[in-house]
Amino acid sequence: MNENTKAPQATYVSLTAGQREMLLESPLLQGVPYESVFDWLHYTPVRALQHGETLIESGVHHGKLFLVVSGQLSVWLDPAPEMPDDTVVQRALSGPEVARIFPGQSLGEQGLIDGQPPSVWAIAARESRVLAIPTEMAWQTMQAEPKIALNLLRMLSDRVRQANDGLRGAIANQQRLARDADTDALTGLHNRRWMENMFPRTLQRFQTSERPVSVLMVDIDFFKRVNDEFGHAVGDQVLRESAQRLLRMLRPADLCARFGGEEFCILLPDLDADQATVIAQRVLAAFDAEPLPLDSGATLKISVSIGVADWDHVAGFQDLVRAADTALYQAKRDGRNRVVTAHRNSLSR
Ligand code: GH3
Ligand code: MG
Ligand code: MG
Repeated sequence: MNENTKAPQATYVSLTAGQREMLLESPLLQGVPYESVFDWLHYTPVRALQHGETLIESGVHHGKLFLVVSGQLSVWLDPAPEMPDDTVVQRALSGPEVARIFPGQSLGEQGLIDGQPPSVWAIAARESRVLAIPTEMAWQTMQAEPKIALNLLRMLSDRVRQANDGLRGAIANQQRLARDADTDALTGLHNRRWMENMFPRTLQRFQTSERPVSVLMVDIDFFKRVNDEFGHAVGDQVLRESAQRLLRMLRPADLCARFGGEEFCILLPDLDADQATVIAQRVLAAFDAEPLPLDSGATLKISVSIGVADWDHVAGFQDLVRAADTALYQAKRDGRNRVVTAHRNSLSR
């Protein structure tokens, strides 16, 4: 610690009668006879902490069991080492804290048991007072009064449960974030990021078994006009409805992703280009047969163009997508609302 970060000189006071009673009701001392902890309540120092003052520093042995008498302590994980103390305190009091410790609650039980230095920081979140029981004294009392040890066990068990709950929440959160990162928010389909991760893996699986795989690139025709004529919100509805329509037409094992703006990429396992072309024609016919429903109750007729390519078991995923894209481009040039299939070295319509 340098001059600037030195903690202020600790100040000590004594407990009031009310505070002693409160501590006797605390989770650690519940059911413990007054005489057993007489020394704790009368002869151990009560430390007065100013707002923002550090009581426990991560990694630094303090050799005490602390019982909070008044105020509040903020417990949090390690700060970045280069942070100046003021920023550290500010962050501790406003940032993500591990816990708040209130009067009657304790700190340092874990260190009492395993003798390890603390792995968290504790800072006074407001002016506070804590009873600081030296570790040896705490041990001696516990040996004479097992009720304290039992209380301690229960408190630690509660803490493990809380930690598990926290962990469960953190894992769920992480899973949600991972899912969001792979999902297109507008259509709910997988996004391109997911596709570029998943499709090559699927292809690899098929490479070993020599099974066919095809890709469809589906692009809405004249979609810009939808936006221009009916507005962006209607354009969004068209994208959502188109995605749903595609999904309804696919098998569970097919993979469908929003590739870009109004372009969808579909991977069809176990279908060669000819079989995939049949599916593509069916998709085309579905859009042709029925206009898309809009939120307003109106409907809008759109068409799509589709490029089909199958995999020759040599080329990679990018080549497959490129072949389907070239076929799609040809479908657009040929007048849209049609399917073009890339047959290895030639395109057929
Ligand atoms: P083509 O038949 O050649 O495919 O013509 P197009 O108008 O469908 O294609 P173009 O690439 O010219 O325009 C695509 C438009 O899609 C332009 C862009 O503003 C719009 N777009 C892209 N993403 C979204 C979106 O999330 N919502 C909406 N409403 N529009 C989008
Ligand atoms: Mg388009
Ligand atoms: Mg497009």
